[in-house]
Amino acid sequence: MHLEGSCHCGAVHFTVNADSPYPYLHCHCSICRKTAGSGGYAINIGADMRSLRVRGRKHIGVYHAVMREPGKRPWRSPAERHFCQLCGSALWVWDPRYPELVHPHASAIDTPLPRPPETVEAGLKWVPEWVDVPRGRQHVHCATWPEESLADWHRRHGFSPERG
Ligand SMILES: [Zn+2]
Ligand SMILES: [Zn+2]
Repeated sequence: MHLEGSCHCGAVHFTVNADSPYPYLHCHCSICRKTAGSGGYAINIGADMRSLRVRGRKHIGVYHAVMREPGKRPWRSPAERHFCQLCGSALWVWDPRYPELVHPHASAIDTPLPRPPETVEAGLKWVPEWVDVPRGRQHVHCATWPEESLADWHRRHGFSPERG
């Protein structure tokens, strides 16, 4: 699926081809909540890094989260969180451990995205009390992250990238 995206101020525009465009994975971890999810969670979808075209690249900043886990020394995540330096909009995550993939934030996409038949509420072990986590039959709850990849979820739900 061909997607167009932008930050809020318009300094950055991008296009990308997404084989996993359903915005079903709500990540409630503290990085997502702080950097891209005021209401509680962020949503990243799956796309092909080779297809990413960017206008306004000079306005992009990159954040590497420092991971602090009990009993471990703090370590810097290799994942690059790209955002607009002018307006602060979260744009996409790229991780050198999976270089062929790019994960745009659903919030940055201007093309209408398909509505997911179910959502996965992930990272629930980090949810603060005030966040209203969606519950019910169509909301799968997950303490950390699901085993199933974005691509496998799409295959299980019968989405074919060729069909769009
Ligand atoms: Zn901007
Ligand atoms: Zn997260």
